Amino acid sequence: ASEAPEYDVLFIGGGVAGYVGAIKAGQEGLKTACIEKRGMLGGTCLNVGCIPSKSLLNNSHLYHQILHDTKKRGIDVGEVKLNLTQMMKAKDESVSGLTKGVEFLFKKNKVDYIKGTGAFVDEHTVAVNLIDGGETQVRAKNIIIATGSESTPFPGLEIDEKKVVTSTGAIALTEVPKKMVVIGGGIIGLEMASVWSRLGAEVTVVEFLGQIGGPGMDADIAKQAQKVLTKQGLKFKLNTKVTSGDPSGSGVKIEVEAAKGGKNETLDADVVLVAIGRRPYTAGLGLENIGIEVDERKRLVIDQEYRTKIPHIRCIGDVTFGPMLAHKAEEEAVAAVEYIKKGFGHVNYGAIPSVMYTHPEVAWVGQNEQELKSQKINYKVGTFPFTANSRAKTNLETDGIVKFLSDAETDRILGVHIIGPNAGEMIAEATLALEYGASSEDVARTCHAHPTLAEAFKEAAMATYSQPIHF
Ligand code: FAD
Ligand code: NAD
Repeated sequence: ASEAPEYDVLFIGGGVAGYVGAIKAGQEGLKTACIEKRGMLGGTCLNVGCIPSKSLLNNSHLYHQILHDTKKRGIDVGEVKLNLTQMMKAKDESVSGLTKGVEFLFKKNKVDYIKGTGAFVDEHTVAVNLIDGGETQVRAKNIIIATGSESTPFPGLEIDEKKVVTSTGAIALTEVPKKMVVIGGGIIGLEMASVWSRLGAEVTVVEFLGQIGGPGMDADIAKQAQKVLTKQGLKFKLNTKVTSGDPSGSGVKIEVEAAKGGKNETLDADVVLVAIGRRPYTAGLGLENIGIEVDERKRLVIDQEYRTKIPHIRCIGDVTFGPMLAHKAEEEAVAAVEYIKKGFGHVNYGAIPSVMYTHPEVAWVGQNEQELKSQKINYKVGTFPFTANSRAKTNLETDGIVKFLSDAETDRILGVHIIGPNAGEMIAEATLALEYGASSEDVARTCHAHPTLAEAFKEAAMATYSQPIHF
C-alpha cells in the first residue's frame, strides 16, 4: 500500500458501461485503464446482445417481408432462399467492425486496454489474470466496477447453447429449428422469437404473467403487441409456468402448468430458449477481499454518486440497480466520471427509453398507466392510431398507436407508449419532451414535417390536450 497509485481511474469490465466511462475519463485527462476478460471490448451489448440481435432482427424481417409482403406493393419476386450462414456472417461483421472501433477510440483517448480477468487484492489494487498468460497487478486511485450481467438460469435445465440456449446460443444457431419454445415473454424472448419465427420456426412463448413484454410495458400496448405477433405466427401461453424440462431425447420436453395451478401440458421443442431475465455478474471479482455489499438480488449497493461503501470504488451498468439497458449504462458511465473529475453528474432515471425491436417496434418512456393508477396520480390519455397517419398508409404499415399520458391538472407529460413503425426512433422525441418537462400542448404546438410517422406523435399529443385533426 506504500506505492503511488498508477492510474487515476481503473475500469473492471469493458462493456458499454466500462468502455464509455474509460473513453470519457481519457477525454477528461485522467490516466485511465480498462480491464476486459472476453478478449473483445463492448461487453454483452456489442458481442452477444444489442448489436448481433438487431442485425438478425433487421435481416430476418427483410427476408420475411420479401416472402410475404411484396405482392400488394407491386413487386413480384422469384425464388427466395434463406442463406443462414451468410446472415450470421453479416451479423458477425457488424460486431467485429464495432468492437474494433472501440479499440481505436481507446487508443485515440489514451486508455490502456488490459486483456484479462480482474480481481480485487485490496481497495486500490486489482490482480489481472492475463489472457495471454501470466498475471499483473494494477493500482488506481478510483476503481469503477462495470462487470455487467449474465442470463438467469432456469433451475434444473442445463444450458448447452445448442438445444437449451440463452440469448447467446439463440443468436448463433446453425439451422432453423422446426419447433422452438421460449421460456419468458420479455424483451429477449420476443425479439428472438421474432427472428426464428420469421426464418421458419414454429415458436411458442411461455410467459408466467398475464401479459408479454416484461417489466415497464403499458398493458394496452402489450395487448396490441401480442395481437400483431400472433398474426405473424407466434404462439403464446400466458399465465403459464414451466415446471421442468428434459433434454435427454433428440429434442427437449418442456412441462408447463397454469400459473395458478391446474392443467399440465408437455411441449416438444428442438430448441428451448431460456429468457427469464438477467442477473448481476461478479464471479471471481474478489469482492470478499474488500467487503462490498450486494442486495437480495445480488446487485452491488451504491449511493447516488455510484459509490460503494468504499467511496473511491464505484459501480455502474447492469451490475447495479436500474434497468439493464445499454444506454442507461452509458449515461451512468459519463456521470460517474464527472463525479470523480468535477464533483457532480446527472442521470434522469425518469426519462430512460425502452425499445423492443420487433416488427412493429414497441417503445416507451416514463410511466405507464398501471404505474400511474397504483400511485393514484390523476392523468389524461391521448392516443392516435397509425391507420390514420398518411405516411404509415403510404408505407402499408398501419399497425399500432401512439399513447400519451399527461398530468390531469398541469398537462405535463408523464409517459409516452408507442407500438408502430419506427417507434424506437420516435421515442427520442418523447424522451426529450420528458427531460424538458414539456406538456402535451407543447408537443402538439410543435410543427412536424409532413408526411412523416412523427405526425402520429404530434396528433396523439393533440388528442391529450384537445383533439386530433385526422382522427
Ligand atoms: P456488459 O455489457 O455485460 O459488460 C461487462 C463486461 O465485463 C463483459 O464484457 C465481461 O466480460 C466483463 N467482465 C466481467 N467480469 C470481469 C472481470 N472480473 N474482469 C474483467 N472483465 C470482466 N440493451 C439495450 O439498451 N438495447 C438493446 O437492444 C439490447 N439488446 C440486448 C440483447 C440481448 C440478447 C442481451 C443479452 C442484452 C441486450 N441489451 C440491450 C442489454 C445490454 O446488453 C446491457 O444492458 C449492457 O450490455 C450492459 O452493459 P455493462 O457494461 O453494464 O455490462
Ligand atoms: P425480462 O425481465 O425483460 O423478461 C423476462 C420475462 O420472463 C418476464 O416477463 C417474466 O415474467 C418471465 N418469466 C420469469 N420467470 C419465468 C418462468 N419461470 N416461466 C415463464 N416466464 C418467466 O428479461 P429478458 O427478456 O431475459 O431480458 C433481460 C434484460 O436484457 C432485460 O433487462 C432487458 O431490458 C435487456 N434487453 C433489452 C433489450 C432491448 O432493449 N431491446 C433486448 C434484449 C434484452
